Amino acid sequence: MFECTRWTLWSRKCIFCNANSYLRIYYLSLEFYMGRTLQNTMINLGLESACDEAMYQMGLDVEELEEIENDAGLGNGGLGRLAACFLDSMATLGLAAYGYGIRYEYGIFNQKIKDGWQVEEADEWLRHGNPWEKARPEYVLPVYFYGYVQHTKDGAKWINAEVVLAIPYDTPVPGYLNNTVNTLRLWSAKAPNDFHLHHFNAGDYIQAVLDRNIAENISRVLYPNDNFFEGKELRLKQEYFVVAASLQDIIRRFKSSKFGCRDNIRICFDSFADKVAIQLNDTHPALAIPELLRILVDIEKLDWDQAWTITKNTFAYTNHTILPEALERWPVSLFEKLLPRHLEIIYEINQRHLDKIRTIFPGDEQRLRRMSLIEEGPEKKINMAHLCIVGSHAVNGVAKIHSMIIKDQVFKDFSDIEPIKFQNKTNGITPRRWLLLCNPALADLIAEKIGVGYTKELNQLQKLHAFVNNDHFIREVFSVKKANKAKLASMLEKEYGIHINISSMFDVHMKRIHEYKRQLMNCLYIIVMYNRIKKEPNKAFVPRTVIIGGKAAPGYYMAKLIIKLITSVAHVVNNDPIIGNKLKVIFLENYRVSLAEKVIPAAELSQQISTAGTEASGTGNMKFMLNGALTIGTMDGANVEMAEEAGEKNLFIFGMRVQDVKELDKKRYNATQFYEKIPELYTVIDQIASGYFSPGQPDLFRDILTMLFHHDRFKVFADFQSYMETQEKVNQLYQDPVEWTKMVIKNIASSGKFSSDRTISEYARDIWGVEPKAMKIPHPTEPKDS
Ligand SMILES: *Cc1c(COP(=O)(O)O)cnc(C)c1O
Repeated sequence: MFECTRWTLWSRKCIFCNANSYLRIYYLSLEFYMGRTLQNTMINLGLESACDEAMYQMGLDVEELEEIENDAGLGNGGLGRLAACFLDSMATLGLAAYGYGIRYEYGIFNQKIKDGWQVEEADEWLRHGNPWEKARPEYVLPVYFYGYVQHTKDGAKWINAEVVLAIPYDTPVPGYLNNTVNTLRLWSAKAPNDFHLHHFNAGDYIQAVLDRNIAENISRVLYPNDNFFEGKELRLKQEYFVVAASLQDIIRRFKSSKFGCRDNIRICFDSFADKVAIQLNDTHPALAIPELLRILVDIEKLDWDQAWTITKNTFAYTNHTILPEALERWPVSLFEKLLPRHLEIIYEINQRHLDKIRTIFPGDEQRLRRMSLIEEGPEKKINMAHLCIVGSHAVNGVAKIHSMIIKDQVFKDFSDIEPIKFQNKTNGITPRRWLLLCNPALADLIAEKIGVGYTKELNQLQKLHAFVNNDHFIREVFSVKKANKAKLASMLEKEYGIHINISSMFDVHMKRIHEYKRQLMNCLYIIVMYNRIKKEPNKAFVPRTVIIGGKAAPGYYMAKLIIKLITSVAHVVNNDPIIGNKLKVIFLENYRVSLAEKVIPAAELSQQISTAGTEASGTGNMKFMLNGALTIGTMDGANVEMAEEAGEKNLFIFGMRVQDVKELDKKRYNATQFYEKIPELYTVIDQIASGYFSPGQPDLFRDILTMLFHHDRFKVFADFQSYMETQEKVNQLYQDPVEWTKMVIKNIASSGKFSSDRTISEYARDIWGVEPKAMKIPHPTEPKDS
């Protein structure tokens, strides 16, 4: 076995083996949407069949046991699930990587549907304890808030701050069959014993104890917004809490390594960025940038320029959305109160940044205003994306089209100056959870044909192209899907008392409910289908079961009304005897990771229908493709690359391209113009407006209609004709199961690119500066640390 024995301080590599064997990767994220852990652990440790067998011998059923586990729902949707997939891939590729986040006492709420409306319930996921975590109270760290800054001759001092303790809880992250276990470290907030001592001194002991909640509320609950910024003080506290605790931990670990030379601290920190790579999952942990500067300048006494170079070389920033309502812009006034020293540091960064722009573009005041970290206006705000771009050495989008948009449009001023800083890293999913775990029958069938190598190297799925015309394989792929459909149907029947036509097309649209994802467009088309059956009940109809699922942010009025519309339409459709088993509409309650694992393997059609230019990547789309569903979708996010990999004719692509959307915006979108050209749409709108789906309450959905006609940012009517025509093509193909299944096989065979192993290898090579090859070399001489 080869051992790394000689590292250089000036390069990232060992002079003998060419590997940077100290480099540690830190993935900072406010969300880790892990789901369940038991089955995933058994699979990654290669123990699944042994455990199944042992349970069976005891007369127990392992599936029943697995169903008892609560999801760790510490995320909202794609961004949080990406962090979880990345942990699996980083461990599998043998990277020394740590996830850092918050141990929320309450994860994403549980969604109940009552009278067709969404109702939220608290997610008490820790009620029965969590066997996967280990508290590490011995590594407790202090985090400071409030107070003020004193400038002395030895530099700035942040004084009179309040302290909150951060207690780490570690969860093991096993790699897939590689004898590697990484760590996810989540912080829990704890009040120090002298918290609010002033009450105590005044004799109000009870009040002092009650006030401990104020501090401990920091890790109480996940903010349930997806793609939406809510500028609440408690959320800013959460963001600083995870950053401050994690950076102390990272620096402690660096200092205790062989590079943490204590004799010359400046030289020591010079190698910091070569040994530490920190990835920011969106701007949520952006405070890590001013926090590292504060530590280096105020505490370690480095000069600004050296601290700035280290900081910039340490951080990399992933952008996840360009929707303006999702971009974090914190009021300066809040920072003044909560994080006064960080505000000063951000001003200093901005001053130097704008000075640099001024030398490149003298007199261009507009450009300075556009690029400033501080937005002027009635209320001054800090633009966190600008802070991340300036403070990082790499900025990436999450799919080709999204990365193009941020480079050439949203952040063009920044890429003009530092073009090579901007990169693309197309998202991926872990094939362990999203194939081996959730769809064992398909995984086994694939292994029978091409061997098991694809589980670590998903591109090997290409070998399946040789079987596209193999009748036997076609029949087997078809029957695996059929069995998965039957299993889902019986689960739905048992849990919800819904009866499903097994030979109908399983058409699935599951993701967070958001206007840009256009669940409304799907719903309008359901009504079109309903009307067609009612009009000609004896005409042949390709039967469908439309499954829609997803949570709406509790404060998102329009999304909640869309859920009510879907459930109201479902009620009418499902109870109409003329419709029979030709069409069923199911709103699946409480969409979450463990439910996705059950539904996706049974899906035949995957709806990925966001307005072009709005979905940064999407990862749901990839899960469906890998599990043998065909996609009806727009040229948006990773759909574009799915079409590139499988061939555009093997997806049902429809609607405007990004360019078309831009042109329509230029001449101003007029919904009525499109509406007038689609007769079937009149009927649908007329029915909604007249209370057909809300008897006695004709105004119930008025706000949806007003939006569609007068302020629909996502242009549902503009894509509707194309959507209907493409749905017709879907129906045509579905009537030929052999041709349908051939297209399914082509899609599965082309889905290898969307493994998060590929994504992580690219981050490692292009951003963190470590070759994937080197990652596989074990380093037995490495010191064990915490
Ligand atoms: C994959 C996943 C998502 C992301 O889905 P998109 O369709 O990309 O928005 C959201 N929620 C859960 C539970 C997921 O598993």
